Amino acid sequence: MAIRVYEAWKGSNKFLFGGRLILGPDAWSLPFTLLLIITPVTLFSVFVATHLRHEFLPSNAGDAILVVAILFTVFVLILLFLTSARDPGIVPRNSHPPEEELCYDTTVSSDGRQTPTVQIPRTKEVIVYGVSVRVKYCDTCMLYRPPRCSHCSICNNCVERFDHHCPWVGQCIGVRNYRFFFMFVASATLLCIYVFSMSALYIKVLMDNHQGTVWRAMRESPWSVMLMIYCFISLWFVGGLTGFHLYLISTNQTTYENFRYRSDNRINVYNRGCSNNFLEIFCSKGKPSRNDFRAFVKEEPPRSVTLATTWQGAEGAEEENREERRQKVEDDLDIDEDIMKLQQRSNAEEGSNQVDHKVDIDQLRVGSNERAPTIRSEARHGNWGTRSNAQEDVVAGSSVRESRSYAAAEEGR
Ligand SMILES: [Zn+2]
Ligand SMILES: [Zn+2]
Repeated sequence: MAIRVYEAWKGSNKFLFGGRLILGPDAWSLPFTLLLIITPVTLFSVFVATHLRHEFLPSNAGDAILVVAILFTVFVLILLFLTSARDPGIVPRNSHPPEEELCYDTTVSSDGRQTPTVQIPRTKEVIVYGVSVRVKYCDTCMLYRPPRCSHCSICNNCVERFDHHCPWVGQCIGVRNYRFFFMFVASATLLCIYVFSMSALYIKVLMDNHQGTVWRAMRESPWSVMLMIYCFISLWFVGGLTGFHLYLISTNQTTYENFRYRSDNRINVYNRGCSNNFLEIFCSKGKPSRNDFRAFVKEEPPRSVTLATTWQGAEGAEEENREERRQKVEDDLDIDEDIMKLQQRSNAEEGSNQVDHKVDIDQLRVGSNERAPTIRSEARHGNWGTRSNAQEDVVAGSSVRESRSYAAAEEGR
């Protein structure tokens, strides 16, 4: 039976309504966040707004206080939903390393045996606004992260323009939900100020009505006092966060970059001036999701690389063994991010009578913990010369296919 993308999802996300909503693994915190918003607003409506309503009769001003509080809360909750229940900008995983990036090398051991090896460079340089930016290879997602993309360890996904993982909304904050997240935090700040001010107003009204002191008024409406204390404390959190993100937006930084830049003393290549930075966040067209969680998983045709060398060890491997090895390779990649040396050994002595062997890419053995050196992609071409034209065509052909999917992965960064 065909399975859908969300059913075979490798990240730690939770899905609701058949993959229509995507949440982070810590989405259990969401009801708690909802309670923190809904409880004070309910108390405000019952114990403050309804009483204020009577004070302003016969005008409708009193009604407006209650209606504004309820509508504004609904607005905040919608923003919370948009932040936490949608794709934050997950870069879909590759099922295999990008072939066009594989480096083929031949090492000669002391006894004169030649060993072709396949490895993937750890980093790659890309140009952003004319400045060279180094992007890292993600072993888990098997892709070069687009600039500003980072792997969320909680959700186990690469997320574009990764800001941070927010435990309060139980979701990554990335390119697709950052503006909603900011609006949620800013609106929550305004809601705090509103509830605080209206509670203070009610205390004032009570004082005027009974010609009493503040203390007497506060004794008369303890809920107003509780709400004012609650809003005052909350303001430090949401207000501080709003201020911090206003600074980040004005300088076009993510929270993640802010911490990294500070330690690395690096320049921020994305800063295009305060007003342009604001326009980029709030007025740019929303980025479409790169994941269709409800689509059916497509079976990938077996991919092969033809090498004119004698393949040792994996000949006649059974389908079961291959599946097992693939699983092992993935586990290893997950366990140690530094393990990324795909190695293929052949016997150079037998290589004199070269025979074409089809080698499934998944059979390439994962080598030692050794870190593959950083090589710019041009460096690879030197190695192609050692191979015959026929092989180059085959590999180049697969390389073209790969490039296309890679281009899709890189697009729109
Ligand atoms: Zn990743
Ligand atoms: Zn996350």
